[in-house]
Amino acid sequence: MTPDSLVGTVMTKVDVRGFPSADWQITTRCNMVCGFCFGSERSAELNTEQAKIVLDNLVQSGFKSIGFTGGEPLIRRDIDELLKHAYLGNLELVLSTNGTLLFEHLEPINLYVDWLGLPLDGYNPNTNDSMRSLPGHFAKMMKILDLIRDKTLLPKIKIGTVVSKLNVNHVEGIGSILEDVPIQTWKLYQFTPLERGRENKELFTLQDAVFEEISNRVRERFPKLHIVVSSIKDREGSYFLIKPDGSVVTPYGEQYLTIGNILRTSAKVILLHPHIRQAFHFKNFVDTYSVGERM
Ligand code: SF4
Repeated sequence: MTPDSLVGTVMTKVDVRGFPSADWQITTRCNMVCGFCFGSERSAELNTEQAKIVLDNLVQSGFKSIGFTGGEPLIRRDIDELLKHAYLGNLELVLSTNGTLLFEHLEPINLYVDWLGLPLDGYNPNTNDSMRSLPGHFAKMMKILDLIRDKTLLPKIKIGTVVSKLNVNHVEGIGSILEDVPIQTWKLYQFTPLERGRENKELFTLQDAVFEEISNRVRERFPKLHIVVSSIKDREGSYFLIKPDGSVVTPYGEQYLTIGNILRTSAKVILLHPHIRQAFHFKNFVDTYSVGERM
């Protein structure tokens, strides 16, 4: 199927639960340098035409959703075109961004994106910006939360918090901020020592039991929030992650295991790789994105 032929195949969106989903690191370039980053290793990027072939492969393989991640996806010059192409392929589209370039892309985001993933790792500038290594990031996020409140930002919203030794005592403060914002999901990620995060693991590593304890505590304290928890164990084998050069990997301990290349092989075939834990793969997406409206 050529990119143009996709235009004729737009259908009403179907319920994506029970269908495979992919996350695509469409670039590793980023305008931030978070110490815990697990998408930091530099890699060659596919050009626009190759990127469209990847999207077409996913559509033809029966995938119903795609998550654009990075690096910072909005740094790519062709990002608006790729968002549109995914939309025309009728893929449920999740865009994970650090938020810094969001205002420059508001229109395509509102037109094409179903879910927007945004980070908040502290409840004030000190805690958030020290995790994120970018002064001013907290202030930007507060402006974005205002857009969500006044419904200028149309996609459904998932706020992600990387919970680590540095900010574990601030997670409840983040919940207090989010309580009054009409978001759909708040996802807590246990810090995972991959890529740059592995180099800084002494600083960030959080014991499993501590992560579990804080997750339970915020669930009790904020019953109105839809809170999803992702531990290191949950992540293993549950992601179909496309790297910027088209190779496909899945998290496994402190590494990514390569399971195929999406430019050469049908995504349907790669999905059968024994290191993908099928049940966890489906559950991961359903838990995060299958929620009722809160607005
Ligand atoms: S965690 Fe996200 S925002 Fe931070 S450096 Fe990595 S890709 Fe960029």
